[in-house]
Amino acid sequence: MKRKRVVVLGATGSIGESTLKVAHDIPERMEIVGLTANSNAQKLAVAANRVRPQSLCLVDESKIDVLRGALEYEPQIFTGEEGLREIACLTNADIVLVAIVGTGGLRPALAAIEAGKDLAVASKEILVMAGEIIMREARDNGVHVLPVDSEHNAIFQCLEGKRSTLNAQRSTSNAESSTLDVGRSPRRSPSTAEAGWTLDVSDVRRIILTASGGPFRETPAKEFANLTPEQALKHPTWTMGRKITIDSATLFNKGLEMIEAHWLFGVEMTRVEVVIHPQSIVHSMVEFSDGSVLAQLSHSDMCFPIQYAVTWPERVPNSLPPLDFGKLGQLEFATPRYDDFPALNLARRAGESGGTLPAVLNAANEVAVVAFLDRQVNFPGIWEIVEEVINRHTRVAHPDLDAILQADQWARAEATGFVKSLKR
Ligand code: NDP
Repeated sequence: MKRKRVVVLGATGSIGESTLKVAHDIPERMEIVGLTANSNAQKLAVAANRVRPQSLCLVDESKIDVLRGALEYEPQIFTGEEGLREIACLTNADIVLVAIVGTGGLRPALAAIEAGKDLAVASKEILVMAGEIIMREARDNGVHVLPVDSEHNAIFQCLEGKRSTLNAQRSTSNAESSTLDVGRSPRRSPSTAEAGWTLDVSDVRRIILTASGGPFRETPAKEFANLTPEQALKHPTWTMGRKITIDSATLFNKGLEMIEAHWLFGVEMTRVEVVIHPQSIVHSMVEFSDGSVLAQLSHSDMCFPIQYAVTWPERVPNSLPPLDFGKLGQLEFATPRYDDFPALNLARRAGESGGTLPAVLNAANEVAVVAFLDRQVNFPGIWEIVEEVINRHTRVAHPDLDAILQADQWARAEATGFVKSLKR
């Protein structure tokens, strides 16, 4: 297998940092050719000086002097949202890893697909918001969407044994051509093999997403109103960015992941379930029609799924610690507290209704998380805001990108207004 040349969107975040660790660990298989940040110019420069990618993008143009001043070499520098789209289409890139928190990664992801780049997606929000469009565009352009989220990466690995011959051909030809095919032309017309990306899920009875349960897994519901952002930011098993850590506490993270699984694997929401697994060792499971269940296990370190998404379809040795089953102790599983954590039912409702409702749920949640972190609303207020906004929404059944973006903006405005009314 040739080296994969990777652009990392959101390089200064938690996933970005883990991606740089992976690249350092397997330099013969992975080369970083582009890095981006929103406004953290200093951190972007430190990372760039270490790995020396040819291209960088800093969205916040006002910080460009800080970036230039801290760089020890002269890369090509893009700025602004347009710059993000340009770096996502670099001719010397094979794969674009999208790790921008929230919805800012949507347009660059679509641009990358259009330019014929494979996508490795950590940003679940963009799949929740526009999963139908992303997966359709990927199919039409003959590119792969590889899951980075540990649960979906686990499911992908469990389903891979069922990858069709056509997909295997496509993946092999893609891996072989990855460095020869520099600057491959946009909108390659997909051959049957290229278009045959959909994994075979006909024998899948259930996709079972595992959830750690977050820091409040055992907290009585009557205490929820007094929980602080500091308590919510203490995740028991994962170290992550602030937004996803709060989502893990409310279980909206798992709700978003249910919708993400629906789009990534082409399964109905009714076949997607959640089980609480506090140790975060089993990253998710697939139950087949004969009752057999496959699971993927590893330590809770995002380097595992990031590496597999980048090196797929190959497995590559690394320096990550193996599981020591003798020391693991018990692996526990439990049914979620659906009534106490309404996020799962709200997300199921949004995912089953489809159309613009998932985008509305996602946008309202983003506003609610910020309001909670700013102490404008209490912890249960996050669920309350999301429920109120999705109740108010008039769903568009088969939205195009403009309709999705409009629904997103509408939901943000509604949620912001509702936050103000709660504060009164
Ligand atoms: P962080 O908050 O740690 O990092 C976010 C990154 O996105 C930073 O590089 C930030 O730049 C950049 N960014 C933020 N806003 C914008 C914007 N508007 N335009 C361009 N870039 C922007 O997030 P995480 O790494 O934790 O999460 C990233 C994504 O991955 C999320 O969607 C999350 O749900 C998903 N994910 C994360 C996991 C984890 O373990 N952390 C696990 C699975 C999925 P700057 O630093 O300059 O602000």
